[in-house]
Amino acid sequence: MISSKEIRQSFKEFFKSKQHQIVSSAPMVIKDDPTLMFTNAGMNQFKDIILGNAPVKYKRVADSQKCLRVSGKHNDLEEVGHDTYHHTMFEMLGNWSFGDYFKKEAIAWAWEYLTGVLKLDQERLYATVFEGAPDEHLERDDEAASYWEQYLPKERIINGNKHDNFWEMGDTGPCGPCSEIHIDIRPESERAAVDGLTLVNQSHPQVIEIWNLVFMQYNRKADNTLEPLPAKVIDTGMGFERLCMAVQGKLSNYDTDLFSPIIRRLGEISSAAYGEDPGRDVAMRVIADHVRTIAFSITDGQLPSNARAGYVIRRILRRAVRYGYTFLGMHESFMYLLIPTLIEVMGEAYPELPAQQTLIEKVMKEEEESFLRTLETGIKMLEKNLPEKEGGVLSGEVAFQLYDTYGFPLDLTELILREHGMRADVEGFNAEMQKQKDRARNAAATETGDWTRVREGDPLFVGYDETESTTQLLRYREVKQKNRKFFQIVLSRSPFYAEMGGQVGDSGWLMADDGSEKIVIFDTKRENNLAIHLTDRLPRDVKGSFIARIDAEKRTATECNHTATHLMHEALRNVLGTHVEQKGSYVSPELLRFDFSHFQKMTTEELRAVERKVTAAIRGDFAIEEHRHLPIAEAKAQGAIALFGEKYGDDVRTVRFGTSIELCGGTHISSTGRIGTFRIVSESAIAAGVRRIEAVTAKVCEEYLYAKEDAIVEIKSLLNNVPDIMQGVQRLLTENDEMKQQIQDFVKEKTGQLKQHIIDKKEDVSGVTLFKVVLPVGIPDVVKDIAFQLKSEFPEKMLFVAGVASNGKPSLTVMLSDDLVVRGFHAGNMVREAAKLIQGGGGGQPHFATAGGKNAEGLQAAVDAIVKKLSE
Ligand code: ATP
Ligand code: MG
Repeated sequence: MISSKEIRQSFKEFFKSKQHQIVSSAPMVIKDDPTLMFTNAGMNQFKDIILGNAPVKYKRVADSQKCLRVSGKHNDLEEVGHDTYHHTMFEMLGNWSFGDYFKKEAIAWAWEYLTGVLKLDQERLYATVFEGAPDEHLERDDEAASYWEQYLPKERIINGNKHDNFWEMGDTGPCGPCSEIHIDIRPESERAAVDGLTLVNQSHPQVIEIWNLVFMQYNRKADNTLEPLPAKVIDTGMGFERLCMAVQGKLSNYDTDLFSPIIRRLGEISSAAYGEDPGRDVAMRVIADHVRTIAFSITDGQLPSNARAGYVIRRILRRAVRYGYTFLGMHESFMYLLIPTLIEVMGEAYPELPAQQTLIEKVMKEEEESFLRTLETGIKMLEKNLPEKEGGVLSGEVAFQLYDTYGFPLDLTELILREHGMRADVEGFNAEMQKQKDRARNAAATETGDWTRVREGDPLFVGYDETESTTQLLRYREVKQKNRKFFQIVLSRSPFYAEMGGQVGDSGWLMADDGSEKIVIFDTKRENNLAIHLTDRLPRDVKGSFIARIDAEKRTATECNHTATHLMHEALRNVLGTHVEQKGSYVSPELLRFDFSHFQKMTTEELRAVERKVTAAIRGDFAIEEHRHLPIAEAKAQGAIALFGEKYGDDVRTVRFGTSIELCGGTHISSTGRIGTFRIVSESAIAAGVRRIEAVTAKVCEEYLYAKEDAIVEIKSLLNNVPDIMQGVQRLLTENDEMKQQIQDFVKEKTGQLKQHIIDKKEDVSGVTLFKVVLPVGIPDVVKDIAFQLKSEFPEKMLFVAGVASNGKPSLTVMLSDDLVVRGFHAGNMVREAAKLIQGGGGGQPHFATAGGKNAEGLQAAVDAIVKKLSE
C-alpha cells in the first residue's frame, strides 16, 4: 500500500516536474484578512497576489496547505464524524498558475497525476463543468469540456450549476467557472448494480468530489457586474485525506494510515472497539479528527480562548470531549494522550508538532479538565431546571443558555432530558440561536465599496527611514459599518506602519502640499498585505500631492516597546531556557505584552533577572543592525528565531541589537539606549503552559516608577514620617493584632453577660422555656453565638427569640430545640412571617433562622409575634 507520506510527496514531485515552485503551507490562523479567521483553502495565502497587492514571484506554485473549515462560508463542523469524508482540519493539495498556463494544462496535469502517477482507475472518474448562467450572460464552459473530452467519454462530463461550478472569492473580487473531479470508490458489485453517474453530487459517501479546478477569469464588482480579469489564475484544491482513501482502496478517510493509528490508540485508551457500534464510531471519528485540529491550531499560535478564533478552537475541543464523555464514557481528560500517535503520523511533514509537543499536551489537558468541570456544573444546572413533571418540556431559553454558556450541544441536553422522560423545546432553541446569529451579523456588518483608482503604481513603505514623505493617492474606497462611515486610502509612498506582528498601526496626518488642508489618519491597517490608511474624510483634491506625516511621538514610544520586546525575548530564553517560545505579542505606545510558553509561574528572582538583562542591554546602547532582504536560510544560520504560525517569504528582514536577533518586519528605535528604562508590570498565566508579561519602557515606565515612589512617600507621611517605613508598618500590624485580641476578649465577656441576663429573664410559656430579648443595639454574631449556646445548654422545650438593631438595621433570630421541631414548629417559617413587621424577609432551617429588615421600630412587635406562635 502506498503511504500517505508517499502520496503527499508524489504530488509535490509531480508538479515540480512541471516547473512549479513548491512552497510551504501557510499558518492555519490568518492575521491580516478581516473577512477570514482561518485558512479554508489553498488559495488564501495567494490572495494578495491574486488581488494584485503583491508581485508574482513564481508564476507556477504547488503545495499542501493546512485548512480549517469550521466557521464562515465553509463550515463542515456538523458533518464531521457523522460522515466519513469531511474534516475540520484537512490538507489541501493544490497547484497555481498566476497569469501563466490555464485550463488546458490544469486539466491535462490533473488527469496525468491521478491516472498516470497514482494509477487510479479511469473508469471511476467523472468531471463536472459549468453549465452557464443566462442571467449573467455566461455561457457553458465548453472550453473545459473540450479538454475533458480528450480523456473522458462525454456522458461522464456533467454540467453543473452556478452554485456548484462557479467559484467566487467573496461578494466581490476574482471569480470564475470551476471543474470538479469526482470519484466512485464503491465495490464492483455495487457499481454494477447502480450507475455511478446517478450518484455524483448526491452526498453519497463513496461517490465524492476529490479535486476542484478553479479557472479565475472574471472580477466581480460591488455593483455585482463582472469584468474580465487581466491576469487569469488557475487555483486547484484536492482533499488529501480523500485522495489517500481512494489510492489506498479504503471506503472511509478514517481507514487510511492518516487516521487509523489514532483511532487504534483511542480504542486502547477508551476500551472501545471501532466498527462495532455506530454511535461510538461517530464519537471516535469526531475525536480523531478534532485532536488534529486542536494540535495544529496550538502550534500555529491560536490557543483556545474566550474570543473569536480562540473560541472556535475551544468549541471544537469541547465537542470532542463531549462525544468522548457521552459515547465512550470518558469522564477524565484523555485527548492529550493521543498526541504522541498524532506526531508519529504527521510529525515528519509538520515539524511544528514534535517541536511543541509538551505545550500541546499541557494546553489540551487543562482545557479538557476545565471543560469536564463545566460539563458537571452544566448537568447540575440542567437537573435543577428540569420541568416539573414527566413528559415536560425544557424551555428553548434554558436549552440555549446551556449551549451558549456551558458548551452543551442541544443533542446532549436532549439526551439527558430523555433519560428523565422529557424533551427540549427545539423550536425555541433554534429561535434563540437565530437571534444570536442576527446579533452577530448586525454587529459585524460592513459594506465595502469598490476601489476608485486615482493613478497606477505600487505602494511603497518608507517608514523604516522616514517619518514624513511626499506622496499621492493611488486608490481609495468607502467603508460603512453599523454607525460609522470612513475611508480607506492607499498611498504611493507611506511612512505609516500598518498594524502587523503585534505592533499597532501608525496614526498621523495627510497635508495638501500647498498647505490648503490637513486630514487626520486615525489608524493604519493591513489587508491581504496592502497598507490601508483610515480617515474620516477624503481630501478635497484626491489627485493632488500630499505630505504624509506620522505622529512621531507615538511611534517612538511604540518603537521603544518593540525593541524592548526583542531584548526581553532573548532575556527570557537566557533566564528560563530555550523552551520559551513567543506565543503572542502586542506592542503599543503604552505598553508591551508578550505571551510565551513556559510551564510555571516565574519567581521574583527570575523576573528581576530578566529586568536586569534588559536594562543592561539598554545601557549597552546597541545600535540597530538591520538586513532588509536576507535569504531566510541565511537569517536562520545567523541565529534569528522564526516563529511558528508566522508566514515568511524567502526574503526576510532581520533586526539585531547586540546579541538579540529576530526576523521582524516592525519598526524599532535606532539604539537601545533611547529606551531609557524598562520594568515588568505583571506576569500571569493565560492558559496552561502559556505565561503573559506586561512591561513598560521610557516615559510610561518613568511615570510607573514615580507612582511607586509617591506611594512610598505617602505611606511614610501616613506613618508620621517614621525613618524606617518597614518598621512602622510592622508596628501597626502588631498593634492591630493586639487590638483584635482585646476586642475578642471584650466581646466574649459581653456575650457572657448578655446571655446571663437573658437566662435570668427566662419565662415559661405552655411548658416551653422561652428566652427573649429585644435590644436597640447589638451585634448579630453575638446573638447567634448565644442562640447556639442556649440550644446546647437547654436541649429540650426551648425557644430563643432575639430582635436587635445593629447600625440601625433590625434583625431577628430564632432558635428552637429539636423536640419542638419534631412537634411541627419551624424557625424559618416563624421568622419569615414576623419579618414583615420589620419590613424585611428571611428564613432558614427548621431549628434556626434569621431575618433582616428596614424598620427597627417593629422589633418588639416581631418578637411578640414569634412568641405568640408558641401558644397557637
Ligand atoms: P464538498 O462538497 O465535498 O464539501 P467542497 O465543494 O466544499 O467539497 P472545495 O471547496 O472545492 O470542496 O475544496 C476542494 C477540495 O477539498 C474538495 O474537492 C475536497 O476534496 C476537499 N475538501 C473540501 N472540504 C473538505 C473537508 N471538510 N474535509 C476534507 N476534505 C475537504
Ligand atoms: Mg464543502
